[in-house]
Amino acid sequence: MKLANLLGRAVVISGEGVGLDVERASAGRFSSDVMELFERWPEFAEWASGRESQADEPIDLNALWAPVPRPRQVFALALNYGDHAEEAGHKRPSDLCVFTKFPTAITGPRATVSLPSPAVDWEVELVVVIGRIAWEVAYEAAWSHVAGITVGQDLSDRKLQLAGARPQFSLGKSHRGFAPLGPWLVTVDEVPDPEDLELGCELDGEVVQRARTSEMIWSVGDIIAELSRICPLLPGDLIFTGTPAGVGMARQPARFIGPGAVLRSWVEGVGELENRFVAGPRYHPATASEEEKDK
Ligand code: ZN
Repeated sequence: MKLANLLGRAVVISGEGVGLDVERASAGRFSSDVMELFERWPEFAEWASGRESQADEPIDLNALWAPVPRPRQVFALALNYGDHAEEAGHKRPSDLCVFTKFPTAITGPRATVSLPSPAVDWEVELVVVIGRIAWEVAYEAAWSHVAGITVGQDLSDRKLQLAGARPQFSLGKSHRGFAPLGPWLVTVDEVPDPEDLELGCELDGEVVQRARTSEMIWSVGDIIAELSRICPLLPGDLIFTGTPAGVGMARQPARFIGPGAVLRSWVEGVGELENRFVAGPRYHPATASEEEKDK
């Protein structure tokens, strides 16, 4: 089942790209607010399964909002692919390295994002959406606590992230619009193997990242088991599962997202994001003299 957020209304999407309005089709049994559906996910998923055939509303992709617009918690993993850890100059981590993207960073699959600095980088990621409370969950039971998966971009302002004596992962990755999400949530029965999907992204037509989720150091099961030993994961919570190699910061010379750029990000069997970028009010293009001043 594919669940989308069409201008703030929950919609089940069919294979042909038409939608079924959840509140109307259920005669009010289920809310039009996707966040309320996560609170009753098993019951909702049972109602929705097989109902795609009733879909008849044409869907404008540009009218889709983030499928999970207001999670209570957003977990994100750093250095969860070995080749990305290496390109970032780190050893393969022996512990989970976790930060948050504050929820106000979430935006839609076709959103235009304002650039706060000339050092904004791309990080395509598989994003997992929690479907029932996960508290001290064993590895084997982890996926049964998942509502579905979606595509995320962990946009990162490297200038802010690396400005101080200690890295500021959470702030540097939480500017407004820094968490494009979508285009919909897909339940895991729709993909052959959720632990082995191709993901990638393309900047202005050039593929810059391409890998498989099977290359993760910590699998989705590992992540849920580890995190849920510390705090309960709540319905609608998000986990950004980390990015593979190919980010702009690690290139020689470093490459970042400029005004006018188009970034396409995809996960096999799920869908794709297409985000455009404009210079924000505090954006100043980097010049040689400014870079010297920074040193
Ligand atoms: Zn990331």
